[in-house]
Parts: sequence; C-alpha cells; structure tokens
Amino acid sequence: MIQLTNNHKGKWVVTSAWPYVNATPHLGNLIGSTLSADVFTRFLRMKGEEVVFVSGSDSHGTPISVEAKRVNVSAEELAMKYHNIIKDLHEKWQISFDNYTITHNPTHIEFVQKMYLDIQKNGYINEKEIESLYCENDNLFLPDRFVEGTCPNCKDEGARGDQCDKCQKLLTPLELIKPRCAICGNTPVIRKTKHWYLDLPKLQDQLKRLIEENKIIPSNARQMCLNSIAEGLPERAITRDLEWGIPAPFKGAENKTIYVWFEAVLGYITAVKEWADKLIGEPEKFEYFWKDQETKTVFFIGKDNIIFHLIVFPGLLIAYNDNKEDSEKLVLPYNVSSTEFLMYDSEKFSKSRGIGIWIDDALKLAPLDYWRFNLIFNRPETSDTSFLWSEFENNIKTLNDNIGNFIHRTLTFIEKQFNLRIPEKIEYDEIDKKFVEKLTNIGIEVGESLLNFKLRKAIRDIVSFGKEGNIYLNEKAPWHLIKKNKKAAGHVFNICAQVVYALAILLGPFIPETSEKILSNLNAPKLSELKWDSVNENSVKVGQNIKKPKPFFQKLDIEEIKKEYVKLKEGKPKEGEKELISYDDFQKLDIRVAKVEEVEKVPKADKLYKITIDLGTEKRILVAGLAQHYNPDELKGKKIVILANLEPRKLRGITSEGMLLAAVEGDTVSILTPDKDIPLGSKVE
Ligand SMILES: [Zn+2]
Ligand SMILES: [Zn+2]
Repeated sequence: MIQLTNNHKGKWVVTSAWPYVNATPHLGNLIGSTLSADVFTRFLRMKGEEVVFVSGSDSHGTPISVEAKRVNVSAEELAMKYHNIIKDLHEKWQISFDNYTITHNPTHIEFVQKMYLDIQKNGYINEKEIESLYCENDNLFLPDRFVEGTCPNCKDEGARGDQCDKCQKLLTPLELIKPRCAICGNTPVIRKTKHWYLDLPKLQDQLKRLIEENKIIPSNARQMCLNSIAEGLPERAITRDLEWGIPAPFKGAENKTIYVWFEAVLGYITAVKEWADKLIGEPEKFEYFWKDQETKTVFFIGKDNIIFHLIVFPGLLIAYNDNKEDSEKLVLPYNVSSTEFLMYDSEKFSKSRGIGIWIDDALKLAPLDYWRFNLIFNRPETSDTSFLWSEFENNIKTLNDNIGNFIHRTLTFIEKQFNLRIPEKIEYDEIDKKFVEKLTNIGIEVGESLLNFKLRKAIRDIVSFGKEGNIYLNEKAPWHLIKKNKKAAGHVFNICAQVVYALAILLGPFIPETSEKILSNLNAPKLSELKWDSVNENSVKVGQNIKKPKPFFQKLDIEEIKKEYVKLKEGKPKEGEKELISYDDFQKLDIRVAKVEEVEKVPKADKLYKITIDLGTEKRILVAGLAQHYNPDELKGKKIVILANLEPRKLRGITSEGMLLAAVEGDTVSILTPDKDIPLGSKVE
C-alpha cells in the first residue's frame, strides 16, 4: 500500500497513456488513462507534493502514414492537425497536464536516438536478417498496416498485417492469405531485410527481480508480467521499414525508423525534458525528477498496456542505465494503475460501427463535471463496466440528492436565518461529536483510497459523507430548534458549513469546476491556494459572509440528451465516409484541361499507360491505370481533365506528374472531357 511520508515532500512524475494521434479519444480511453491520472495529480498537488504530469499524442507509425498518403498531405501536417484537436479537447475536459506534447518534436527525437545508441553501446541490441513483404510498384517494404489480405483465422478479406478486426487475431504480414499492398493494391513479394532487436532475454533476470521486489504494483499486473517472463521473453524488433517515424540511429539502418511502440513510451521522459527546457525554462528540473531514485513515476494505462509498461519500458531503462553513474541513471517505474475496459451498453467502443461516446460529443450533451463524476463513480477498476444512459441519470441524481441538496439546504438556511453570515458554535453533544469525528477523518480516508488508485471508492465515500450530512441535519432538525433556540440552530449550521467546505476540498480533484463554485459561494480562496489538509471543524470562520446560494446541480433530462446524442451521431461521417471540405480546400485543387499526345504501355504492368499530355504551356508525363479500358488510339488526341498540382509519384520507375480524372463504377471507367472546344490549360472550377 502507498503512503505519503509526513513532513517530506515527495517527487512524482505522473503520466497517462499516449493517445494515438488520428483518433478522437472516447470515454473509455479517458477514464482508462487521462482522467484518472488527472484526479490523482490534482490530489497530489493539493497534498503539497511536487508533481509533473505529462502525456502527448503518439504521432508516428503506420495508420497516420497510410491516411496521409491517401488524402495526399504530409504525415507531419496531418499529425499536427489531429494533435491540436486532441490537445484542445483535453483542455476542455480540464485535464491539468504540465505538458501535453507530441512525439514528433525535436526534444523527443534527439533523446530517443541518443538513448538507443547508448543501449546499443551497452550491448542490448542485436541485428538480424528477416523476410518481409515488399511492394515492387511503390518500391518499399510493407510493414504491418501497409498490407491487407485474407485472415488465416476467420477468412475475412479485410484483415490488416497487424490484426484482423473481424476476429481480433494478432497477425504478421506474412501470415495473410492473398496479401496486397494497402497503397496500390498490387501483390507484394518476399524480400530479405535487416532489423535491430532489443535483447529482452538478456534483461529477463533483472526484470524478474524488479517486479518481484516492487511490493506495490497491483497483484494482477505482477502476475501477468511474471507469467510472461516465465514463458521466456522474445527478442523484439525495434526498427521498421517505414518512412514516417524517428530515423533509427544505428549504423547500417539508413531508411529505417524506430517502431512506434519503442519510442512513444520514452515520451514519458522527453515530455518532462521538454517541459523543463522549454515551458518553464529550468532545464535542471529534468534531472531533478527523472534522475532522482526517490522520484515516484506512475503510469495510468489500460489493461492491454501492462506488459509494455512493466517489461519493455523498464527493460529499456535498465539497458540504458547500465554502465552509468548513479546520478545519471533514469528512475525505474514505481507503479502502474491499469483499468479494465469501459463498454457502451455491453459492447466495445467502435468508431466504424458507431458504438460509443467520444469526448468531443460528450461535452455537447451534458456539463463537464457530470461526465467527470459519472466516469469516476463507475470507473472500471476491477472488472469491465458498461456506460448506460439510465445509470448516468441515476448517478447524477445521487450526486444531487446527497451532496447538492445538503449544500443547498445549508447555505439557504444561513441566508434566510442568519443573513448570509456563518453563525457561532456552542458545545458539542453526542451527535455532533460523532459527525465532527467523521469530518476530521474523511480527508485521510479518501486520500488513502486515492493514493492506492481506488478512485471509485474515494468518490463513493465522499457521496456517503454528503449523505451523512443530510442524516445529521434531519436528526438535529434545526428548523424546529430555531423556533425556541436560535443559537442551537446556528450551532448546527456552523458545523454544516464546515462540511460544505470539506466537500468542496474533497471534490476538488474530481470535479474542480464545481468545487471552485462552492468555494466561491463560501467566499473562500481559490482551490489552487487551498490544501487537502485544510479540512477541519473550524475551516470556515464565525461571522464570515457567504454569497447568496444557487443550486449546484440540475436534474438530467436523459431522454432529451439521448435524442441529442442520436442527432450528433447521424450528423457525423462514419469512418470510410467522406467529410465535407471547405471552399478553400477545393480552391487548392488545380484542375486543368489537357490533350493526350502519346500513349505507351508500361513494360510488365498490365494496367498502366505512360501518357504524354499537353497543358498548353508545358508537356507532362502521367502514369494512369487505363490499359484495360482504352486502346492507345482511343486516347490519342483526346481532351482530358487533370489534377495538375498533385505531388509527383513514381510508378514502375516513371514519375507521374498529375492525375487524369475519370468516372469509375465497378469495371466501367469513363474519362472526363470538356464538351466544348476550350484552350488547353483552362482551369476547371
Ligand atoms: Zn480474422
Ligand atoms: Zn504498392
């Protein structure tokens, strides 16, 4: 169990799993990592601990690269576009990162390259030659997602080289039946290529010891790791034959990049470095956190990420630290908090099937703090849980009945009977004593749950405390007392005001916006100026003025919200459908009229023609897949329409400088031609 040392500030690096850049996170992603990490971090800050909280967008790898090629922009441009969207959404969810960065940044790239050279120098990297699929049309090796084909397991024809979405089986490109290149559709060939591997077998004993000696990692995570070590850790390839990524720094590894999984985890280190160097301008803070063996690093991740964070990541750290002075060593992981999965109505979240709620839509449907509260109240800590609309409605009702009502009853009574001033206390009776004891202990209890990642228990204990407030009020019945003894009634509301303050502090890490509102209503300082341990029986002073209260929560009209949700879903293009583009986007396309001059067959390619065209002011070469649809004579002399500002592409060794436009449906291909005589080079708009 984790405990905080008294009178000694601890140092923490808190991190949450890096979202992949081309997908908007859904509620399951959020509760699994980011939101949980935020609650934990906010609590540590309120305890006065030193914390740096980082994460970022995982920008390299095949999916973004494939998409960029398809929509014809650079992978970097596309990654930055999505990164800014995710970053903005995290701000809207009030995730209090010190640095939310992206793996495509110079600090990260430089550090990763240097780190891998050190790991190689220390003898933990091996080179091996393997067989891999190669597309002779695109002239490149095809890693995982660049290959599609038939799943050997379920025979689905849409399987990718890393996984079959239909049956979920993990695959390698060579296992696919009838593999095809995801870019051009041609059948790839097998070629030999060299790759660099992390020698995990060599690290196995040290990793085993590390996990056995760490007494605080959750037992299921420990067991999972020890099982996988007992089976024997395989060597794992660090490099990929892929253009978009961090260039592998090894000698002989030109044109190879580091596998995205093997560099994104190092972002936990480099995001702190970037924060120290660039955001706060105190470069020494990097060593202060990452090179102090007392620093506690905590990783909030989904259960599918455990092996990577407790085996591969520490393996890299151990390999890097080898032969280094103690003061140069990076600290090994302290703990992981992994959740089970959040489902939507008992089904897995799925963008392509339109199942689930995404974090941008959620905020259009209900206030932020309702979501934050609901997600933590049902956090999938020990088993998969489902998001249900009815439960959302009930949970907000629970919040309102137990906490909202208690606060509102207290503050309106003080308004009406004591003219918005906190009344005096008299002597405690037995009921008071019992309740005040709860009040002085609640911060310790909730804090202990939080430190041990029992966020769900923590928030439920706070709700129960609110409920006890209501019971206390009913027992004391100050509305009767006031008729005979105003002082005795005032006494009850003094105690209740202390509880209102306590609730504001306790809710601070969970629903900060509401917490601020409650504090402001009490005329108390802002949350950032208040400490977790400031809760006691005299936190709010006698005679202090408060503001006129308004209810903090509203009942959710869940039927209306569900209707809105359906509307949002229908208005959105599903994966595979086209998004609307702006007029400005359209204007970027330079479409012009041209004339076909020469047509030649491309050797050894059944479908391709090399076409020489005249644009009026210049001649160009296009490579087009028309050989099965037109004879050369049918094309020669024809006026056609081409996209003239397309990035040149090499096909079968010929550079194609534009794209001929044609209507395509099944096997029918029909070239677009202007229906009047119009000069060559005329713009199409
Ligand atoms: Zn399958
Ligand atoms: Zn290809």
